[in-house]
Amino acid sequence: MPARRTIGVDMGGTKLLAGAVDPRLGVHHRVQRSVVDLDQAALLDVAVDAVREARESGGAEIAAVGFGIPALMDQRTGIAVVAVNLPLFDVPFADVMTERLGLPVFVDNDANVAALAEHRAGAARGASEAVVLTIGTGIGGGLILRGELYRGAVGAAAELGHMVIEMDGPPCQGNCPNQGCFEAVASGTALAREALRIARERPSSGLGRALAGGREIAGPLVTELAHDGDAAAIAAIELIGERLGVAIANFVNIFNPEVVVVGGGVIAAGELLLGPARAVVAQRALPPSRDEVKIVAARFGVEAGMIGAAALAFDGLARKAGVAW
Ligand SMILES: [Zn+2]
Repeated sequence: MPARRTIGVDMGGTKLLAGAVDPRLGVHHRVQRSVVDLDQAALLDVAVDAVREARESGGAEIAAVGFGIPALMDQRTGIAVVAVNLPLFDVPFADVMTERLGLPVFVDNDANVAALAEHRAGAARGASEAVVLTIGTGIGGGLILRGELYRGAVGAAAELGHMVIEMDGPPCQGNCPNQGCFEAVASGTALAREALRIARERPSSGLGRALAGGREIAGPLVTELAHDGDAAAIAAIELIGERLGVAIANFVNIFNPEVVVVGGGVIAAGELLLGPARAVVAQRALPPSRDEVKIVAARFGVEAGMIGAAALAFDGLARKAGVAW
């Protein structure tokens, strides 16, 4: 087989990752761009530019491009109907990108492609039923049911981050009209908010001193301080981990998954996050599902979306050609 590669592009709420990926899902060249405060036209320009750079630097033939975008898709039309955390509304995304890139383009929700990567070669490999959560700016969800990615009636599944876990909870983010969503209380955004509150309450803690020193209280700093043993930072991550556990208990009861995979930027906290989540699942979910389920970190970490988008492109090419890759 010739050394054909695809480019996978993961468009997150704050940054875009692109990479040239081989059929064994090895990544050969990476490109990163900020997408903060861009309008829709600028966002599409950044995506085109990142693909061009990955294509020129890859040193191998690029056969197609896959995009994971944080939008609700209508797969009947290829239209990205709405994105919660990025300015995308009613964009015929695949058509626009096919024309601008001159390559076959395949598009799916970013959390769905992350689930595809983890199922194909990561922490959910071989699972028949799996739940894959991507916790960053928001919370994306992907479901593997009967060994296949579940996309719903028109391709808009599985928005697990917008399951309500607190009926009268805080308003959700961006373009979600709901309140008390899992995403509203347990995303990286929520972690930063809770950490800021705790920093103010505990000014002599490491977190409190960081705030007084003018540092931005965001996920990476909270995680770093927690790994260094700061009790206030650990408390913020434990709180998010407990809420994660409440959500996972729901998924365990509903889907009886073999494995729940947690990825996205927030999983940098590792066991500090997953330990409290497992404890809540053990207390609140139903047997026998709760006793069988494994709750683990994603293998591909922050690259799951990019690698999954590349896998989506290989799948798309194979479907067009009528062969498996
Ligand atoms: Zn929501």
